[in-house]
Amino acid sequence: MVRCGLERIPVGTTREERVCAHSTRDIMSINLEGEPTVAPGFSEKAPLERYVEPARPSLVGRSRGQLAAALAELGVPSAHRNMRVQQLWHWLYVRGVTTFEVMTNVSKELRAALENRFTLTRPEVVAEQISVDGTRKWLLRLSGENPDKRPHEVECVYIPETGRGTLCVSSQVGCTLNCTFCHTGTQRLVRNLTAGEIVGQIMVARDRLGDWPGERPPEGAIIPTDGGRSVTNIVMMGMGEPLYNFEAVRDALLVVADNEGIAISKRKITVSTSGVVPNIKRTGEEIGVMLAVSLHAVRNDLRNELVPLNRKYPIEMLLEACRNYPGLTNAKRITFEYVMLKGINDSLSDAKALVRLLAGIPAKINLIPFNPWPGARHECADWETIERFSEVVFNAGYSAPVRTPRGRDILAACGQLKSATEKLSVRERMALRAMAMTE
Ligand code: SAH
Ligand code: SF4
Repeated sequence: MVRCGLERIPVGTTREERVCAHSTRDIMSINLEGEPTVAPGFSEKAPLERYVEPARPSLVGRSRGQLAAALAELGVPSAHRNMRVQQLWHWLYVRGVTTFEVMTNVSKELRAALENRFTLTRPEVVAEQISVDGTRKWLLRLSGENPDKRPHEVECVYIPETGRGTLCVSSQVGCTLNCTFCHTGTQRLVRNLTAGEIVGQIMVARDRLGDWPGERPPEGAIIPTDGGRSVTNIVMMGMGEPLYNFEAVRDALLVVADNEGIAISKRKITVSTSGVVPNIKRTGEEIGVMLAVSLHAVRNDLRNELVPLNRKYPIEMLLEACRNYPGLTNAKRITFEYVMLKGINDSLSDAKALVRLLAGIPAKINLIPFNPWPGARHECADWETIERFSEVVFNAGYSAPVRTPRGRDILAACGQLKSATEKLSVRERMALRAMAMTE
């Protein structure tokens, strides 16, 4: 019997059995027949929820073509549409305005018609936490839901450093995959974000940081010190698996990278994947951004356990897709992420195997100290072990930065995200308190 929800769907279930009443096609289409499976046993949570468009949808995140369609719907003659699209584009993505009223070069009638039919709403900030290191985490509530249902929420994290400000953006509410070390994977409620909700996270962050022309950052905010923009880089490393929501992520990132709008260059945008092989090539071809791959293990038996998607797309297949990543050069390397788990994947022989495995691929290796979360079954590798591991990688000619955990005090670090939609259990709350006391 197949049931939605927490239960995992048994392997061998047919397509018809799997597509249960609540599941959406997006993820199902990726996971169904026709793709090779090496180790048996890969299963995932079904995405249960759908996006329901509100009566007055937001224009945030729309492409030029979609803005033109919106204008056509309002009866703007085709001869005027391009010019109007240019105006809207500028107000939305260069100025970051939140009302139609301020669009002074748009006629009054058109502003009223826009107001009547659309909004410029971004996801709503329901909580903001600021870490001692300046990292900010926002809990964002998404609109467009059935009002009697639980709201859908995601987290978005801002990490300021000297010379850059990185925004860690979510692609799904929760995640259908179940990597053993990741908090997001334990969240039950899952739905794909729309392109608007993905762009909306960047807009919200810039709103909160006063990162629009003529605005100023909030008093005391830690931002890059060069006087430029506060959000300079985007990493799709928040909640969810971006390549399981490919079209929305692609459409959103193309809006974000457009150099007449938000204008964050594709070299400063990174999509991180746990290894959805069929969409790796598409990421290079259709988006053209930087790729990060969550490798975490050098042997299939271990990776099958840590990143269960490996049972479907094992290491050899994943690395083959990486070797063929469109646009890959020494100047545009793939980042391989490797979370350091005590006694699991942190030995020197793992480090040596890692450099052998990646030989010939223009790569950077990013060692991530495991970030604990309440109920996690792993521990972070010891600092000396991480350093020794890093030395092996460095001596093999790779830059091997160890990612400094940021915002741990507000559970904003990699893999700690889990939206408040999923209330913490009593056990989780107690564990969290204990963790906070020991940090
Ligand atoms: N789903 C995508 C992107 C989101 S996760 C992916 O898996 O790549 C972003 C990164 O955080 C991934 O490299 C992931 O493996 C890592 N991560 C997850 N949980 C973590 C944890 N508890 N500590 C450290 N890194 C973690
Ligand atoms: Fe999903 Fe990435 Fe977390 Fe794995 S590490 S559960 S793919 S968000």
